[in-house]
Amino acid sequence: MVGIALRYPTVRRGFQHRSMCSVCLTTHRGGGVSLMTARKAGAAGREGNSVGVYMCADLACSLYVRGKKVPESGSRFEESLTTEEQIARAGGNLNAFVDRLYV
Ligand SMILES: [Zn+2]
Repeated sequence: MVGIALRYPTVRRGFQHRSMCSVCLTTHRGGGVSLMTARKAGAAGREGNSVGVYMCADLACSLYVRGKKVPESGSRFEESLTTEEQIARAGGNLNAFVDRLYV
C-alpha cells in the first residue's frame, strides 16, 4: 500500500473541452479531468521533481469502470473489453503512475 499526496488544482470555470482520464479512460467535459501531481519518492522528490497524471477529478475511476457512477456530461467508450478487463487495466494504469514516482 502506498500513500501519495496529490496536489489538486483549482477548477477553472469556462473550461469546456473534453478530456479523458488516463486511468479509467472515461471522457469528461469541463473540469472533470484534472492533472494530479505527486512528488517523486526519495531524493528526486526532495529536489522538487513530481509526476503528473490526468485523471478523474473526483478520483472515482473504479466506480466509472464498474458502471456504478456515470460522468455528468461525458461518456465512456463502448469497449469490447469485459468489465473485469477494464478494472485490471485501470489498476495497471494507476500502478504505472505510482511506479513513475520511484524511478
Ligand atoms: Zn478516471
